[in-house]
Amino acid sequence: MAIAHFPLKLTARRMIAPTVAHLSFVRGDGQPLDYAPGQFIQVHFACADGSPARRSYSLATIHDHALGAGEAVEIAVSYVPGGAATALFEGMPIGGTVDASGPFGRFCLLPADANRRYLLIGTGTGITPYRAMLPLLETLMRERKVEVVLLQGARTPAELLYGDEFRAFAEAHAGFRYLPCLSRELPEPGSPHAHADVRHGYVQNALAELAPDPAGDIAYLCGNPDMVDACFEALKGHGLPIPQIRREKYVSNK
Ligand SMILES: Cc1cc2nc3c(=O)[nH]c(=O)nc-3n(C[C@H](O)[C@H](O)[C@H](O)COP(=O)(O)OP(=O)(O)OC[C@H]3O[C@@H](n4cnc5c(N)ncnc54)[C@H](O)[C@@H]3O)c2cc1C
Repeated sequence: MAIAHFPLKLTARRMIAPTVAHLSFVRGDGQPLDYAPGQFIQVHFACADGSPARRSYSLATIHDHALGAGEAVEIAVSYVPGGAATALFEGMPIGGTVDASGPFGRFCLLPADANRRYLLIGTGTGITPYRAMLPLLETLMRERKVEVVLLQGARTPAELLYGDEFRAFAEAHAGFRYLPCLSRELPEPGSPHAHADVRHGYVQNALAELAPDPAGDIAYLCGNPDMVDACFEALKGHGLPIPQIRREKYVSNK
């Protein structure tokens, strides 16, 4: 089957961490983008030397897909020095367009899942699929009482992407727990990020206190490949069977 290509038009851009931009697009052809939370798109462009390039970005849009396809296409892009896509997105004017394709990927919540708990783990922009899953998680928590723990890894409080949104979601939903894991700098006492569920260290170090349970847990791992591998090994060590550990590694297309 031919892969659908469409233009994406930039409508807004804001920095959500010192080197991460939240970008909002709509399809330039006026169509909605139909996808499942957890999927990603690819953008296609020419590098400075004219060579063709493509890069993948997880969809971050919060949209209730039970209501049909949505129009907003939101992604979080980590700017890396010398990055080809970084230059593209940094230099793109509001109203500018880029060729895109998708959606792709199977890093999604599955309708047949009958687990007691989801362990959702991400570092850096690897947290974005879980933002897109929030409306569906809300439905699943209500309908089948599944519990959800979100483990977000970052170095500093300023790098906790969408941290305020996840904290607010946890405050509003008893079945959802949000554990930010900070490796370098903890929030000041009394600051907005300070909370009893903040942990010091890497996400894989916070797993033991959650007592991963082969009988009831399904885990999702997304982002930095080293983190994904470390958590995969840790979860296997807790007895989780491989089909209950779903992974999305943010490897470069270069
Ligand atoms: C399925 C999938 C989903 C992805 N989703 C996202 C997403 O939602 N958001 C996102 O930002 N990225 C995501 N990525 C990674 C993304 O596709 C690009 O690899 C990334 O944006 C870098 O592209 P670039 O062209 O700016 O840099 P490149 O031109 O690819 O690299 C420039 C230099 O930066 C280094 N570099 C590349 N990435 C990083 C990094 N993360 N940290 C430090 N150095 C790096 C490279 O090794 C190279 O030296 C995803 C990847 C996959 C496979």
